[in-house]
Amino acid sequence: MKLLSDPDLVKGFLDPAEGARLYDLVSTAPAGPVLEVGSYCGKSTLYLGSACFVQNRILYAVDHHRGSEEHQLGEEYHDPSLYDADVQKMDSFRTFRTTIDQAGLQNTVVPIVAASELAGRHWATKLAMVFIDGGHSLEAAMTDCKTWSPHIVPGGFLAIHDIFENPADGGQAPHQIYKHSIASGLFVERQRTLTLGVLQRI
Ligand code: SAH
Ligand code: MG
Repeated sequence: MKLLSDPDLVKGFLDPAEGARLYDLVSTAPAGPVLEVGSYCGKSTLYLGSACFVQNRILYAVDHHRGSEEHQLGEEYHDPSLYDADVQKMDSFRTFRTTIDQAGLQNTVVPIVAASELAGRHWATKLAMVFIDGGHSLEAAMTDCKTWSPHIVPGGFLAIHDIFENPADGGQAPHQIYKHSIASGLFVERQRTLTLGVLQRI
């Protein structure tokens, strides 16, 4: 693995082992671009983007950068340094850009600053891999799944973050879309890395 900057310096919610797995998946995916939903400050983007850089792929990084429910003011994962008091909203885009610039990924990553459903409404590009790490309500997660998985090429990967088998350990929406994807008959399970579920398109 050859990362273009130090992931420890990027705020985010991804274990290094999960990041390394994302890097490996990109490295072995069929030809084509990669897309992530939920970039936040760019930690997962750094792992995925570094792998894309080596292979001359493009990474589409979709995030409205207004934060998920848990990032809002007063919520558990709120980070005051990412709050734009002028508009009274979260704004992780500025920090995200810094991450991309410091890694030299400007010509690899295409930021799409929009809600997932909006970005995907007229999408028609085949994808080698999709990483879903956006909103954690069942509605948001299901929308991400239904919006992006149809574009994955045969042999391509669908990686889903925050899979918890036991509801006591965390919300079940990512697990639900994981199971929904298997039930479609279009994906087979691959080895999991911590909370990172990996499916491969048949
Ligand atoms: N992958 C990141 C963490 C993502 S946190 C890392 O490695 O650290 C989840 C992100 O999803 C937040 O930045 C939030 O703004 C974004 N998000 C939540 N719902 C979304 C939606 N419907 N469309 C686009 N982005 C969304
Ligand atoms: Mg996550």
